[in-house]
Amino acid sequence: MKKNILIVYAHPEPASLNGALKDAMSEHLRAQGHEVDVSDLYAMGWKAAVDAADFPQRDAAARLRVPKDSHAAFAADALTNDVRAEQDKLRRADALILQFPLWWFSMPAILKGWFDRVYSYGFGYGVGEHSDTHWGDRYGEGALAGKRALVSVTAGGWQPHYAPRGINGPIEDLLFPINHGLLHYPGFEVLPPFVAYRSDRLDAEQFEQTRAALLQRVDGLWRDAPIAFRRQNGGDYELPSLLLKPGREAGGERGFALHVAPAGAV
Ligand code: FAD
Repeated sequence: MKKNILIVYAHPEPASLNGALKDAMSEHLRAQGHEVDVSDLYAMGWKAAVDAADFPQRDAAARLRVPKDSHAAFAADALTNDVRAEQDKLRRADALILQFPLWWFSMPAILKGWFDRVYSYGFGYGVGEHSDTHWGDRYGEGALAGKRALVSVTAGGWQPHYAPRGINGPIEDLLFPINHGLLHYPGFEVLPPFVAYRSDRLDAEQFEQTRAALLQRVDGLWRDAPIAFRRQNGGDYELPSLLLKPGREAGGERGFALHVAPAGAV
């Protein structure tokens, strides 16, 4: 069935490895008859920093309060055109793919700034009833529920450096704020990430292997099982503390892994 996929891509060099992977994905998906939108953030000159200019109709004499001004602008359909265009792309998309190099163990700042601005109050957060018994529609619910997301990242480091005992910390932990905090939060079903390690020096054969492995993951966009992040409103958390209920941990007492349900539990 024909789907709509949004690729958000962050690399300053069109001829980069990241650029080649982004092109490979969009050509592959289009060849299958899907619609592909690409937000090429550097080429678009994306404004990464949130400031008062993001809310053109606000009272310029009042103190800037980003959540409040963001909420008012969203409700009045008065966000800037660049932000509204990206929100429309997200509404249209059945799946979101992020393509970026790992820079300082996270995403390039321009991509973080895409989330800071596009996820306005009322769209990315502040959705649904908010009370002591229902802390909003988030972590599995929200404006982007029902859509799928895949992070595709290239890293200079070696795979063992990112293994459970590796010096950089487990890749699942490093990507948790993105997969859980940015993608599961507004409702996406998040697939396990695609990570290309030792990516600074790839010969033609290694590039081809990386490209083919990524396209296989793209083919699994609607088939592969998402990460079993627990749903906030699924009964696993106490209210209003939002602590995981005792006895539900799959191993260990703290940390990111608590928020992934054990196999077979969801
Ligand atoms: P490129 O430099 O464009 O290419 C990499 C290789 O792929 C080259 O060998 C190139 O020839 C080959 N290639 C590219 N395109 C093609 C093509 N079309 N066909 C065949 N071969 C091709 N790494 C970490 O692990 N952790 C970090 O925290 C981290 N922080 C960083 C912070 C900064 C500011 C920077 C600049 C780098 C950091 N790195 C880190 C390394 C970074 O992750 C890699 O440099 C990046 O992922 C490589 O991707 P690229 O698209 O820039 O590669």
